[in-house]
Amino acid sequence: MSLTTVKQPLTIRLCGPRGFCAGVDRAIQIVVLALKEFGAPVYVRHEIVHNRYVVEGLEAKGAIFVEELDEIPPEHRKQPVVFSAHGVPKSVPADAESRNLFYLDATCPLVSKVHKQAMRHNRLGRHVVLIGHAGHPEVIGTMGQLPEGTVSLIETIEDVDAYEPADPDNLGFVTQTTLSVDDTAGVIKRLHERFPNLTAPAADSICYATTNRQEAVKQAAPGCDLFLIVGAPNSSNSKRLVEVASRAGAKASFLVQRAAEIDWSQMDGVRTVGLSAGASAPEVIVNEIIEAFRERFDARVELADTVEENENFLVNRELRHVPLTTSDMAFVNGE
Ligand code: SF4
Repeated sequence: MSLTTVKQPLTIRLCGPRGFCAGVDRAIQIVVLALKEFGAPVYVRHEIVHNRYVVEGLEAKGAIFVEELDEIPPEHRKQPVVFSAHGVPKSVPADAESRNLFYLDATCPLVSKVHKQAMRHNRLGRHVVLIGHAGHPEVIGTMGQLPEGTVSLIETIEDVDAYEPADPDNLGFVTQTTLSVDDTAGVIKRLHERFPNLTAPAADSICYATTNRQEAVKQAAPGCDLFLIVGAPNSSNSKRLVEVASRAGAKASFLVQRAAEIDWSQMDGVRTVGLSAGASAPEVIVNEIIEAFRERFDARVELADTVEENENFLVNRELRHVPLTTSDMAFVNGE
């Protein structure tokens, strides 16, 4: 007599949009195209995007990741150095120029837009309030657009309450692009209550990709026994998705980098799993996780799509003529 194991039924609610955004896609393309045009090595300052899988894939193609420009050996000074999607303080391109380095800036255009809004506040004589997370590279980059002492970092409503600016009537704010939409609305509301003359930026600083991924998770979370977000622990937008899932009704939510990290002992009684991915997490890992569920469950994937995204950002002028092969495209798209 043969014994067949009956797999438990399980529904995976797969959120859309999820995963790579236009800024991440562009940043990865820039490194891939630079390798094709200039040959290895191509240096990259800081993780190009916060994802080990992407970083290791680029290393395998000939990229070398450094934290600071002085790590680039003198014999490689003619090779390009790429600045990450998170943006850099003004001192970094200035340093690259003083070292005669050839740099390619992969800062997401939506981060550059926040830089411009912060600079506009400053030009108009306003002290800039930056809402963001201390130590995040994007925050370091945005603060580094302006002279020291002209920006104050605010993370929470408590920070707003404790904030005592020199001129409360002359403030302008911007935010990090990857914050929680709901938390940030609360911080901005309190800022407006305390400082009625506070000036908002011309356009929202939280980007379309952050907003859309949070909204999709919010809609899919009610009724989920578990919500998994594919992303890295240093990815701000991925961590926010974990919080959004819990607040919107998922019984539990976790960040996972690879299927191997999933603790299957926590799956007792789990019948509905939400699944999404941060803006720096490739689709190949989402598929790996779905397959891991299929090996253990009679898993059915239910699409939980909200909006369609069509954003696409051009790469740097120096690289626009370089062709991408089908396999380059698959890598750039995280497939
Ligand atoms: S998350 Fe938003 S700001 Fe960051 S790279 Fe993507 S599109 Fe640009």
